[in-house]
Amino acid sequence: MTSRNLPSSNPTGRLSTPSLIVTMFVLAMSACVLALVVWKGYDARRNALAQSETEMRNLAHSLAEHATHSIEAADVVMDDIVAFMRFQPVPDAPLLNARLREVADKLQQIKELAVLSANGSVQYASMTPLPIVNNADRDYFIYHRDHADRMLRITGPIVSRVSGQPVIAVTRRLETSDGRFAGVVVATIESDYFNEFYKTFALGAGGGITLSGIDGHVVIRWPTPVAGRDLTKSQLFQTLLPSSPVGYNLATSPFDGLTKYYAYERLSRYPLVVTVARTEDSVLSGWHEAVRSDAVVATAMLACVVLLAAGLAVQLRNRERFERLLRERDARHRLIDANIGDVVVVLDGDGVVTFVSMSVETVLGFRPEEILGRVYLDLVDPEDVPGLRTMGKRLSHSPGGLRAEFRMERADGTTVWLEANFRFSRHDGRTDRNIVCTLRDVTRRKEVEDEVEALNSRLAEMARTDGLTGLPNRRSLDGFLSRQFEARQTLSVLMIDVDNFKGFNDQLGHHAGDDALRQFGRLLAQTAAGVDGFAARYGGEEFTIVLPGTAMAAALAFAEELRAGVRALGIVNPSAARGRLTVSIGIAAKDHGIRDPEMLLRAADKALYEAKRRGRDCNVAAPAFVDDAASLVPDAVVRSTTRV
Ligand code: GH3
Ligand code: MG
Ligand code: MG
Repeated sequence: MTSRNLPSSNPTGRLSTPSLIVTMFVLAMSACVLALVVWKGYDARRNALAQSETEMRNLAHSLAEHATHSIEAADVVMDDIVAFMRFQPVPDAPLLNARLREVADKLQQIKELAVLSANGSVQYASMTPLPIVNNADRDYFIYHRDHADRMLRITGPIVSRVSGQPVIAVTRRLETSDGRFAGVVVATIESDYFNEFYKTFALGAGGGITLSGIDGHVVIRWPTPVAGRDLTKSQLFQTLLPSSPVGYNLATSPFDGLTKYYAYERLSRYPLVVTVARTEDSVLSGWHEAVRSDAVVATAMLACVVLLAAGLAVQLRNRERFERLLRERDARHRLIDANIGDVVVVLDGDGVVTFVSMSVETVLGFRPEEILGRVYLDLVDPEDVPGLRTMGKRLSHSPGGLRAEFRMERADGTTVWLEANFRFSRHDGRTDRNIVCTLRDVTRRKEVEDEVEALNSRLAEMARTDGLTGLPNRRSLDGFLSRQFEARQTLSVLMIDVDNFKGFNDQLGHHAGDDALRQFGRLLAQTAAGVDGFAARYGGEEFTIVLPGTAMAAALAFAEELRAGVRALGIVNPSAARGRLTVSIGIAAKDHGIRDPEMLLRAADKALYEAKRRGRDCNVAAPAFVDDAASLVPDAVVRSTTRV
């Protein structure tokens, strides 16, 4: 498995889990903030409308009260005049004029106070000089003349024929004591009296106050005056007023067509209705402001949320990538762990296995849980335990760790050779009590080593042995002789040469010659072994026997015995004088004149040469202290010249 097989970045292009979470989070937060803003806005709008309704109703009521008080004063005065004139139809003019003037001056709202005669001319008035004006054409005059009711009438706005200003006329019918029309009492109130008062209220753009007669004609309209407007077709006069003297509603303005909230109240004592209007925009302007600032705050909050979420997404993505890397690394470790030839073992201070890698299953056949918690020495071949104990004692003094080889039994019962490296584990630069051990199966290597060792010893054996006879060869002889020469004071050497062997070969062939040499070799080995001697093939048909601890006399006796043995083999040699295979033997013994093994061999060889010279099939002992072949010959002692 490679990293390509591990879960990695999404190739499908779908959102990764963190991005999805963050997106959901942002959407949820946005929805919450939006819901909060909408809910708050809705609530604030409701509150704003409710508050505005209360304020407008209160204002309508206050304005109704104001209008009532304003007219009431004129009403009272006019009531007095009506009563007075009924009983005194022709009062004293200067006196009445003065009285009227006094009243008009005292009452701020009354601009003019006048009594019109039955023909419409000004008869008495608060104004000086008495204006020469006839109001017989005025609507109110005509009404009072033609109607006998004594109700107060309020008309307006009209332009005063005296001051030229727009005024409201409050009028009453004058009667003679017998009930005939005697004229009209008129009190005028300047429109500005109301306008000045109304302008103290802030009703916003499009807002306004209307004072209307209950017959639908507009008396005062602030801020934009509308003269003589009839509102009888409006919703107020059609439906609202008939059902309730006070009210509040949303309707389209009959003046400018805008949708407005209206609070109205009908004056209880006079035929007037006060209407306060505000446009929806002005009622909700505070709310709009609040909504705008809420939107700004919400946008800022959402921006913060988005920024935080983006940061979070980056964090999550980094974490996911990091975790993926960890997972990949973990998978790689498991892969390596399961497939690597080495087993990693961690031992605690008591030698108990606290961790073992998965590869233990491959190497030892045990599952990790079968090894965990066991004392590792219990798993080791008993023969190797002492060595490991000794190594364990040295471990604390070996910072680089120690190497050991030991055997363990696999789960299937076979023995495995393990090469182990032990060392104390290090953590943050400090050594702790745990021991980390890596184990490697070296069974095969051990087998190969054993094979090589066997092969080497076989080769060494071959290097020391003569191939034909199986006797030690010359090299072996040299080694043995030098060791014995060093170790022994008494030592004899026999040089043995087959007589007339060339002829043997020539006549019987090399094969027969080899056979004869093999038989002769076996005889030499057996005979030498009988006296703890060492027999070797010196070369060709020459042989050597070393007799450790044997002096010349015994060596000569041994040589005799040997030659007897050769004869006893009964090998035919047609080229020998006696027709049988015989040998000649030269014998030398270690004495003060012989300084080294070579000298000893040379002495024996010279004695052999002498034996040949003397006719073969005999033994010749080399003389003592002699290292010269020439001088040896005359003194050579022929121990035996036994002929067969
Ligand atoms: P002498 O009695 O003087 O020793 O005479 P000889 O013929 O034995 O001596 P020579 O040195 O002339 O000949 C030795 C012969 O030994 C020559 C060789 O053919 C034979 N020979 C040496 N080694 C072997 C061997 O391994 N196998 C066989 N078949 N013959 C061998
Ligand atoms: Mg020879
Ligand atoms: Mg020979």
